[in-house]
Parts: sequence; structure tokens; C-alpha cells
Amino acid sequence: MSADNLWPDAKKFAFTIFDDTDNATVANVGPVYSFLADCGFRTTKSVWVVDGNPHRGNCVGDSCAKPDYLRWVKNLQSRGFEIGFHNCSWHGLPRDEIRAALDRFVDLFGNNPQSAANHTGVEESIYWADARLSGWRRWVYNLLTRFHNYKRFTGHVEGNEYFWGDFCKERIKYLRNFTYHEINTLKACPFMPYHDPQRPFVNYWFASSDGHDLPTFNECLSEENQDRLEEEGGACIMYTHFAKKFCEDGKLNPRFRELMLRLSKKNGWFVPTATLLDYLLKVNGHHAISNAERRGLEMKWLGEKIFTGTT
Ligand SMILES: [Zn+2]
Repeated sequence: MSADNLWPDAKKFAFTIFDDTDNATVANVGPVYSFLADCGFRTTKSVWVVDGNPHRGNCVGDSCAKPDYLRWVKNLQSRGFEIGFHNCSWHGLPRDEIRAALDRFVDLFGNNPQSAANHTGVEESIYWADARLSGWRRWVYNLLTRFHNYKRFTGHVEGNEYFWGDFCKERIKYLRNFTYHEINTLKACPFMPYHDPQRPFVNYWFASSDGHDLPTFNECLSEENQDRLEEEGGACIMYTHFAKKFCEDGKLNPRFRELMLRLSKKNGWFVPTATLLDYLLKVNGHHAISNAERRGLEMKWLGEKIFTGTT
């Protein structure tokens, strides 16, 4: 994609955010979304559909089982934000409950989830942890993580109690995989969204720019990086967790506010993740990655993980 404008409406670049819902409540992310909406951003807010056991799993937060939260999420959707999927809840659920939660998602939001991301620690995560990688790279990962995640996530393993690969294939269009320290996600992964024939239960994968917490987000979105994203005519799909200190006691982090306001004044295409990926898919067509392309993505991610601890 060149800077000679391939973006709709004569926009110079594209920017969106996929926000993992970990720890999120209306109190801690509500002000963030009001601010984004006022700035003209329309991004993707992921949800958990059902409550889990509060004593299990990571990063317990609100789910769509809570009426006030659900009302707020539905209002966001009505304002043009995409509602994404971050597994059914904060810990794993067996296959029948996954199917029921996906049905519930459709009841609540009127459509299947278009974009999704695995939540760390959820047993039904699909092609996750060591299964993100191929060949020797999988073994390097397992050695680095001391085999803590070895074959631990089984959403793609047929016959397992957490298997839901067939539902994923039927219902979910885009799933996030690798994240990189690079604001121009499209530069890191020029062929996204892509299909990986070795991971057939996922229709299309997308990559993201790493903004998993407040300092990482602000660093990735520095003035210099914003200007480069614009100059390159690129696309950023930022990966983050807005519940992690972007707003404290109702007050937005000043640096985050400053950077997003600056970005909002640029001529960018500020649409949700699935809208951006649908557009890339239309322009570039279906792309099944080659072995060399897969190796390149995996090596780059693994390299960053070794040196900086990318998630
Ligand atoms: Zn998560």
C-alpha cells in the first residue's frame, strides 16, 4: 500500500484500536470511549459475553451479563463502534457453553463477532501460545517459556472439551495474531488480512501494533511515529487494554489525551477494525500466506519477544 492514497474518502492513512476487555468496567473505560467518540474515532471494543467464576482466570471485569454495562456497550455500538469478541469470558468454557455464548452475542448485537482476539489464559484460545508458531520456532518459544504453555490451549484441537474451531470458522471473520513494535501495522504485515492454510479454523488473521498498556501505547503513538504513519500512508491496528490506567478516578492520562487529540486532527480514516480489514480484503483479495511469509512473521515476532517481551 503506497502513500498515493488507497484509502477511502481521500484519507492519507488508517488508524484503529482493538481494545481487549480485561478488567473493564463502565467506570474505568467509559471516559476513554466518550473521549474517543468526541475526537471522531470509531474503534473496536471487545467484550466478554457471560460472567465466569470470579475466582478463576485473569483480569476479571464486567461482562454482558451485567445490565448497566450491557446498556453502555450497546450504546457504543449504536454510535458506530464495533463490538468485538475476547472469548466468552475470563476463563475457559466447554464447547456447549461457547456455542450458547456465541448465540447470545448475536442476540445482543445483531450479528456474529467480526473481529476477535484470544484472552490470555483461556483454555479455548485458538492456535495460541506455542501453537502460534511453526517448526523449530515453536520449540524456541517453549524453551523460553519453560514449557508453561505447551499444548495448553486447545480451541483448535478436535475432540477436546474446549474445541470450537468449527464455530470460529462459521462465525468469526478476523482473529488477531502477532503484535509488533511498529505503528504501521501494515508495514509489519503487508498482506493482512491473510489466511494460513496450516491453521484452517481461522478465516483471516490480522496483526497489531503493540500498545498493550499505557506506557507502550503512548510510546507507539509518539508524535514522530504518528507523522511517519501518515507519511507512509499506512494502517495501524493498535492492540491495547483501556482498563489498564488510561483513566484513573475519572481522569484521562494527560499524555494519552494529548497524543490522541493530535492524531485526530490528521486526515486519517478512523474506522473499526473489521471495517478496515474488510477494505483491505476488498482491495488486495484473498491471500493465503506462503511458508516464507509465515516464517517471516513468526521470526519477527519471536525476535521481538526475546528482546522486549512482546505479547
Ligand atoms: Zn485479555
